[in-house]
Order: sequence, then structure tokens, then C-alpha cells
Amino acid sequence: MTNKTEIEQLTNEIIQCRKCARLVIWREEVARVKRRAYRDQEYWGKPVPGFGDPEARILVVGLAPGAHGSNRTGRNFTGDASGGFLYPALHRAGFANQPLAISRDDGLMLKDLYLAAAARCAPPENKPTLEEMNNCQPYLERELEILKPKVIVCLGRIAFERVLRIHSIRNPAWKFGHGALYQFDDGTWLLCSYHPSQQNTLTGRLTVKMFDEIWIKAKSLLESE
Ligand code: SF4
Repeated sequence: MTNKTEIEQLTNEIIQCRKCARLVIWREEVARVKRRAYRDQEYWGKPVPGFGDPEARILVVGLAPGAHGSNRTGRNFTGDASGGFLYPALHRAGFANQPLAISRDDGLMLKDLYLAAAARCAPPENKPTLEEMNNCQPYLERELEILKPKVIVCLGRIAFERVLRIHSIRNPAWKFGHGALYQFDDGTWLLCSYHPSQQNTLTGRLTVKMFDEIWIKAKSLLESE
């Protein structure tokens, strides 16, 4: 089976998932009530599957869908401020064909990069519980199995801890920090970045330059042994 077929199967599975009762109620409630600015739009209101190139060598792991971002549009990082910071950076680095991400049919395509998340359903206050992330972890494991990425980029500490958990790494020397870089025994690189949330980008904790450097580094790791 090709990566594309396996990813399509996984996507269909994810979209139908109702494992986390709290998140099912929340994502559907947000989709029903809507934000005033989007009241004429039909919200996705379902789990948000991964998005990108099925042959990607870079897997990016985020946190969870935004209530009025990807829970509305149905595509990772699409339609909110985090995506408004992420996609232009991916475009500058050559991983995206355009900087704009507003809807599932906006023509955006990723090359050599795939976007996943620690949890696939929008959580209240952007905080999935440990149990919810444990429920969701098998989807990320499957993406790792299918793609066998050479580089994993973790956007934020929670994504980083999730990836360490999957790889059973309990080494206290592996700490999250912007630009921190580790390598698993199988050769896969793990690169950390602050999450491009407004909380980080509006306060200057994560600047455009800092974020661009992450993607330049990720690209250079693809060429490394
Ligand atoms: S967060 Fe993951 S496991 Fe929980 S309902 Fe959504 S897709 Fe399913």
C-alpha cells in the first residue's frame, strides 16, 4: 500500500473518532454556536486529520485544533493566527506553495512536510487532558509509522513530551527549548520550536527570524547523515 493510501485510510478513521466525550461535546458545541464573525460559515466540528505531503520527510507536531481555526475550517493551522504565522514561514522555506491558508479549498499544498498534532479535536481553553492525548496518541504513532520521517519538528513543549513518550525516552537531559535538537537511536532528528501561538508571537517570544531559523535547520537536517 502506498503512503498516500495509508494516510487516506487514517484520515477517514480520525474524522470519525468520538473517543473523548468531553471533546466531542465541545467541538460540536463550538461548531453550533460559532463566533459572530463566522456565523455564515459551516464549521467542520470534527477531528482534524493530518495535512501535507504523504511522502514527507519532515513531520511537524502541533498541539490541538483551535476552536475557531481548524475546528472551523477542517484543516490544520488553517483560519487562525497561528496558521497566519506558520504558513508564511513554510512558504519562505520552500515547504508550502503559498503563504495563505484560509480554507480546505484554497489551493495550499505542502512539499516534503506533514502537519500532525498531539490531539485532533479542539479542547476547551486549548488544553487537552492527559487522558485525551493518550486516546489520540495512536494516530500520531500511525503517522510516524507510515511516514518514517527523518526530522520531527515539535511546536511547543506538549508536542515534544508526546513524541518522547512515543519513543519511550525518559532521559532528563532531553529538555524542551526553542532550537533544542536531539537524535533518536534510529537516526531520526527531533527539533523543538516554540509554538506559533499568538501568546508567543505577539509577545515577541517567537519572532519571524527565530521561526525561519527552525525551518532552515530542519531543511539542513534532511541533508545530514
Ligand atoms: S482528541 Fe483524538 S482520540 Fe479524542 S475524540 Fe478527538 S480524534 Fe478521537
